[in-house]
Order: sequence, then structure tokens, then C-alpha cells
Amino acid sequence: MVLPIYVYGTEALREETEPVDENTEALQTLIDNMIETMYAASGIGLAAPQVGRTERVFVVDVTSMADEIEEDGESVPPQPMVFINPEIVWESEADCDFEEGCLSIPDVREMVTRPERVSVRYLDRDFNEQEMEVGSMLARVIQHEYDHLDGVLFTDHLSAFRQRLLRRTLKRMARGDVEADYPLATREAEAHAS
Ligand code: ZN
Repeated sequence: MVLPIYVYGTEALREETEPVDENTEALQTLIDNMIETMYAASGIGLAAPQVGRTERVFVVDVTSMADEIEEDGESVPPQPMVFINPEIVWESEADCDFEEGCLSIPDVREMVTRPERVSVRYLDRDFNEQEMEVGSMLARVIQHEYDHLDGVLFTDHLSAFRQRLLRRTLKRMARGDVEADYPLATREAEAHAS
């Protein structure tokens, strides 16, 4: 099932998340729905808060960037990937810049500086413990999605100057004046649902 994606300004995106302690049918359904929602929106990653949930779970599919990743000398694990209770256990000292976007902030793209490589420890969807060191686009996507689990958006990383330039656009979005070619949940919809 394709779920609506919560947009900038909704409380869901800033909500505290909870570790998952059991592999249930409901969790597997959530994961299936998140993968379907990510594909429907042509995204490369999606975190539970973006569909109004508080589980520490995100999904990734970087198939569309496999060539770039391999050109960077990295291998691409089987996709899609599911990260349950992820922890970034190491970050490289070297940073890099990359232009990011977010399904919750349609049509905004900004340069963000992050560590070039990270190691992430997590449970896969079968609840097997995994740990891997990643670089290139995969490191980028994982750090972006991981931030969502802590209520952090990529726009939070921008300089005060860039944030000021974006202020009006984001305010408009928070008011619900926003469009995308996938279903969105705005602050107004969120208020009606609760
Ligand atoms: Zn995002």
C-alpha cells in the first residue's frame, strides 16, 4: 500500500522514534508499505517518520545510482535494503559535499556536507545483525535517512544564510501550500487525523 508522505512542517517528522524490539507481521507490513511508497515517489530512501510512524526503521534503494557508486569503487549490495534500529558506529574524518533532496521537502535541493564514509550496524528485515562500512552515495543516503530517525532534516544542516533564503519556501510548505506527484500528508491533514 502506498502511504502518504508527511511534508515539512508536520509534527511526525520531528517526533521521537522508538527502537523495534520484535519482528512482527505488522513490522513486515510496514516495511513492505515503505518500500512501495518509496518506489511510488521515485525516492532512493524513506524513513518511518516520513510515513507518520515512530519505529526506528528506514529503507533504501540506490539501484538508480549503481553506476556512480561503482565508479567510486564501491560495491552495491542487493537492493532494496532495510535498516532496523540502525546505529552509525563510525564516521570518516573526511567530509564531502553533495546536493540532497527529500521526499518530505519537494522541489528543494541544497548542498549538504557530511562524512564521506560511515559504518552502520543494524538489523536487516529478517532480524539478522549486520554491520557494513559504506562510502559514495550509499553513505550519503544512509546518513540522510538516519537523521530522520532523530527528527533531523537535511535543511537543518544548512548555514544560517542558506536557511534564511529558504525560509519563505519552507513556511509555505508548512502551511500546506505544496504539491508533488505522490500523495502527501500536510500539517492540516495531520491535525484532522489526531
Ligand atoms: Zn528525507
